[in-house]
Amino acid sequence: MTSITLGTGVLWHGGKAIPGCPEALQKLKELGKKIFYVTNNSSKTRAQVADKCRNMGFPADLENVVCTAHISALYLKNMNFTGKVYMVGNSSMAAALDELGIRYEGIGPDVVAASEASFDSVAKYQTEWKPNPEVRCVLVGFDPHISYVKMIKAATYASNKNNLFLATNEDPFLPTQDSVVIPGTGSIVATVKIPARREPHIMGKPGTAMFDMLHEVHGLQAEKTIMVGDSLKTDIAMGVNCGIKSMLVLTGVDDLRRVEENQNSDDPHCRQVVPDYYIDSFATLGEYI
Ligand SMILES: [Mg+2]
Repeated sequence: MTSITLGTGVLWHGGKAIPGCPEALQKLKELGKKIFYVTNNSSKTRAQVADKCRNMGFPADLENVVCTAHISALYLKNMNFTGKVYMVGNSSMAAALDELGIRYEGIGPDVVAASEASFDSVAKYQTEWKPNPEVRCVLVGFDPHISYVKMIKAATYASNKNNLFLATNEDPFLPTQDSVVIPGTGSIVATVKIPARREPHIMGKPGTAMFDMLHEVHGLQAEKTIMVGDSLKTDIAMGVNCGIKSMLVLTGVDDLRRVEENQNSDDPHCRQVVPDYYIDSFATLGEYI
C-alpha cells in the first residue's frame, strides 16, 4: 500500500507537527509502506519541503516529495519542450526549471514606474511591448511580485492558443489561522485566465499530473494507493480524479458537514467528491497499526 499525504491541516498546523502524526508516519514506513508528501505550494523546492518535514520529525527524502514547482518542470521536460516559459512565479519555481534545463523569463518585479502610474502607462504596452516569439508556454504560480504589467504579458501569451498555458494550482487563499486573508495562487491565476479567456492546465491537486508522475516514476498503482487529505476540493477531488481511494482527516479545512453538503449537492460532480473513509486525525491511524 502507498499513502499520499499532505502537509498543512493533515500533518501540521502553522509549522508545528500535529501530535502523534510523526509517529504514525514512522510506523507506516517501518511496515514498508511508501509515503509521498504532495503539496500545491509552489514557493518551495522539493529539498525545502523535505527539510521542513524532517525538522518536524517526519521521515522524508527528496524522492518522497511531490510539489508543483517540480511537477511543472517535469511536465515540460517529459514533452521535450524546447521553447521559453513566461513565468509568473518565484525563485523555487525558477530553481525547478533550472534543474531540468528549461529556459524562462519573467521572474522578479515588473511594474510601471511610480511617476507614470496612470491608465496611459498601461495602455502604451499595446504599441511599445512586443511579445517574445521564443515564449511558447505561460506558467502561473505563486508570485509575490504579481503586477498589472505581468498580467498584460501573461494574458497575452496565454491568449495565443499555440502556447501552453499551465498553472501550479488554483487554491483561493493561503491557510492562515487568524482573520487576515492572504490570497492564494488561484487569485493570481484568475488575473490571467479571465483576460486570456482560456482555462489553464492545472499541475497540482485536484489535477492528475502528480499521480501520473508517481505512477510513471515510482510505479504507484491506483488500487493500492490511498490519498489522505483535509480538503475536499483539492485532496479528495484528486483522489476521485485519479481513481484512488481517499481518506479525509478532520484536522484541517473540511468537516463532515461539508461532506454531507457534497453528498446532497444538486451538482453531480460535487456529489462524487466524497471521501471513501474519514478519521479524526492522522495520528489516530497510528494507534490502529
Ligand atoms: Mg491541506
